[in-house]
Amino acid sequence: MRRERVSDDIYVFTSGLYAQVTASAVVTREGIVVVDTLPFPEETQEMIEHLNNLNAGPIKYLVNTHWHGDHTNGNYLFDDSVELVCHKRCQLALQDYGPAALEEAKEATPLLEEARLRIPDVVFEDGELVLHVGGKSVEIALSPGHTLDSSVAYVREDKVLLAADTVMPVPYFVWGDRHHFKESLDHLRRYNLESIVQGHGEVLLRGEIPNAIESSIRYLDTVEEKVAQIVESGKGRSALEALTIDACGKSRIPLNGLVQDLHRANVLALYEELSNNGNPVSSN
Ligand SMILES: [Zn+2]
Repeated sequence: MRRERVSDDIYVFTSGLYAQVTASAVVTREGIVVVDTLPFPEETQEMIEHLNNLNAGPIKYLVNTHWHGDHTNGNYLFDDSVELVCHKRCQLALQDYGPAALEEAKEATPLLEEARLRIPDVVFEDGELVLHVGGKSVEIALSPGHTLDSSVAYVREDKVLLAADTVMPVPYFVWGDRHHFKESLDHLRRYNLESIVQGHGEVLLRGEIPNAIESSIRYLDTVEEKVAQIVESGKGRSALEALTIDACGKSRIPLNGLVQDLHRANVLALYEELSNNGNPVSSN
């Protein structure tokens, strides 16, 4: 696990075990707001211990940005005194898909043997919720696209956006909706930002942000255009192989190359959808 600070009071923890998943903490003398957990208990535990040893207030809130296990599997490791917070859609998604997803993950790795599902009980249903702790305002806003329950958290005083999977080295929409994704990315331009903590991978600094947002929106347009051409040409799915991530304007390097798998999954989902007269195959 890698640990870094993006401002005086904001810590970022990056998984060394899976897909460079990030979790963050806004640390004050009156308390700490944690945003997301890491995929595997040992790393989440290490993060909690680090935060407990900081000579700061106790962990008050844990925010889940969306239901995916790589960001929520560590929920159960937090004390009962910590309030678990998420959007209503995330709570419902965890109820619906959480049990099966965790079972499946447990079958894939012994590292999750002890893990159990814990679902936030403090929810917000409107567009936004603001948590106030020790002079910090953490604005949590719904930001659908990667999943329909995705949120981002903006730390107003630090101008830092904890974007979770709304901002990744490649937008990954297989579980969500690419149209909403474009809107949500466009919407990020309203924030005054010093940095963005992506859900996976490196922190983006001020000068990198406009291009990252721009190129992600362009990627979504390009991949749609190119898959639509393949569908119309009637060449069949074997033609998809030529459609590389580079050809869609994104680098194949980040996340140790995992972005290429995410891109291929995007392309396949889109092909299925567009061959199926525009009806999404995945319903969540
Ligand atoms: Zn995710």
